[in-house]
Amino acid sequence: MLKDSFGRVHDYLRISLTDKCNLRCHYCMPENVCFLPQKSLLTKDEILEVAEVFVSDFGVNKIRLTGGEPLMRKDTEEIIESLSKLPVELVITTNGVLLDQFFPLFKKIGLQSINVSLDSLNPIKNRQITRRNYFERVEQNLRIGLDLGFNIKVNMVVMRGINDDEIQNFVNWTKDEPIHVRFIEFMPFDGNNWNWDKVVSFKEILDEIEGVHSIRKLEDKPNGTSKAYQVEGYEGTFAVISSITLPFCGGCNRIRLTADGRLKSCLFSQYETDLLSPLREGIDFRSFVKQCVQEKSAERGGLVEFYHRNAKSEYEKGRCMTSIGG
Ligand code: SAM
Ligand code: SF4
Repeated sequence: MLKDSFGRVHDYLRISLTDKCNLRCHYCMPENVCFLPQKSLLTKDEILEVAEVFVSDFGVNKIRLTGGEPLMRKDTEEIIESLSKLPVELVITTNGVLLDQFFPLFKKIGLQSINVSLDSLNPIKNRQITRRNYFERVEQNLRIGLDLGFNIKVNMVVMRGINDDEIQNFVNWTKDEPIHVRFIEFMPFDGNNWNWDKVVSFKEILDEIEGVHSIRKLEDKPNGTSKAYQVEGYEGTFAVISSITLPFCGGCNRIRLTADGRLKSCLFSQYETDLLSPLREGIDFRSFVKQCVQEKSAERGGLVEFYHRNAKSEYEKGRCMTSIGG
């Protein structure tokens, strides 16, 4: 078991398959982004080797594939197929642009739960946020996914003055669709122009929804990051991921592997453990993994509270989100 010094057991591994992406969401990817060189990315076999060790030696029972955009890698299909043979719950977070090409594979291997990012239901605004023009394709793929019976969560990063006027539209979407909308508080990373004024808090989101709808609280998963609700009589649900105003570090069971083979014990941690070098040099990397988890900070990767006056500069010192793997 991967237990840290606070007794938290880490059984959920998030693997970033690539830092590249076919969108350029301004809250995620810096304008002048530099991608990792190809030779520093974990190969398919290296990803499988690391994943196998995490499952067999460290008790990991859930793997999420993310990125960048995980469906963009040329060998993503082979990676997914191989990982699906491990005794884990395999899930994915994607921007949805290429989903239609993967539905048959997901059905075949039993990958049932898909998180899709969609920050606006307005095509023009969507184009402004993503700096690309794929809204219709994503919308269409969501329709197909729902019709095929996948369990679909839609991630919407709420930003004041940008898309916070759409909260009710997203909630209304859950009326007749079995869709799970997750409102995410805007988090600071390198190059994403974060500031407090743009954060719409958990409380504000909930107050706005409660002002219009009668809602009920749903049970949350033990290590879950979101607080789930449902409008009375609606088919779908909604939840809020309150990383900023109500962090959930106490129950954290997640560890991250970046596309270039660095282990991060926290999304915000500025310390990384290099697994790529030992892998390529044929050195047993298990003790490095244990040390990384053992040294995990209690909260926010050991950085200051978000409202601290130095927060913006401290959080901007780390990697950008596409390079960490969300
Ligand atoms: N490309 C995929 C996607 O967009 O779903 C996977 C990678 S993306 C980095 C993973 C998640 O991180 C997405 O749901 C995205 O909305 C979220 N994300 C990115 N930047 C964020 C930020 N600054 N604050 C909150 N969530 C963010
Ligand atoms: Fe790409 Fe996802 Fe980041 Fe948007 S949120 S730029 S889709 S990695």
